[in-house]
Amino acid sequence: MKAEEVLLETRNLSVEFNGFRALTNINMKVRRGELRVIIGPNGAGKTTFMDLVTGRTKPTEGSVIFDGINITGKATAEIAGKYKIGRKFQGPNVFDNMSVKENIEIALEGFETLLQCILFKKSRAFKERVNEILNKIDLYDYRHFAAGDLSHGQRQWLEMGMVIAQNPKLIILDEPTAGMTARETYKTGEMIKKLQGEHTIIVVEHDMDFVRQVAEYVTVLNYGELLAEGTMEEIQENQEVIAVYLKE
Ligand code: ADP
Repeated sequence: MKAEEVLLETRNLSVEFNGFRALTNINMKVRRGELRVIIGPNGAGKTTFMDLVTGRTKPTEGSVIFDGINITGKATAEIAGKYKIGRKFQGPNVFDNMSVKENIEIALEGFETLLQCILFKKSRAFKERVNEILNKIDLYDYRHFAAGDLSHGQRQWLEMGMVIAQNPKLIILDEPTAGMTARETYKTGEMIKKLQGEHTIIVVEHDMDFVRQVAEYVTVLNYGELLAEGTMEEIQENQEVIAVYLKE
């Protein structure tokens, strides 16, 4: 992979919690425009890895290079706002009393001055952007619904929309299909595949049907170490992976 193709790189990334090594020497490269899936048994270190990339946890050793810049140890807000790494957590985190559309509008309002904000909100570009996002998450027809009245799956999509609104270079999705029906899960997979055209995406997921649906390239973590990387086909044939994970 050429240097300019790499959006995210971790170098020997390690973290210890009170002497317990949760991650050891993770060297990973994610290409621009890629849709990477991270899998691994419970406790493998997937969440911790995302926490290190997004600045929620500071590494004991190693570094995180994003878009050519060393962002190791930078504050969470800076990593989200300035470097543009967006993250959707597992639980929905939307404003229940507001409409779907208003939730997206709020997520779009990241402006320096109030005037800029007011002018933008009235502009055609703003309305087009809101509608574009509503379509991406398949909630245009629900735009006037209160977020609190949406189904669990729809609320997850709304939250994805709120992350997209911040125009991140990298979107991190933590178990985006948790608690969804099979139909919602499938739809989420198709949605994520479409988003890939515009964003680089890392998905942490347990549901193997979903992983097969979306994954091009998979990273497997196990006991805090990078066990294997490869295409879905390679991973499914990897004996070590089969032993620790896929046969569970
Ligand atoms: P996964 O997301 O793959 O299920 P985690 O990243 O949540 O795994 O956890 C990896 C390991 O690190 C687990 O053994 C977990 O108990 C431990 N761990 C994670 N965060 C902390 C913390 N803040 N303090 C102590 N141990 C932690």
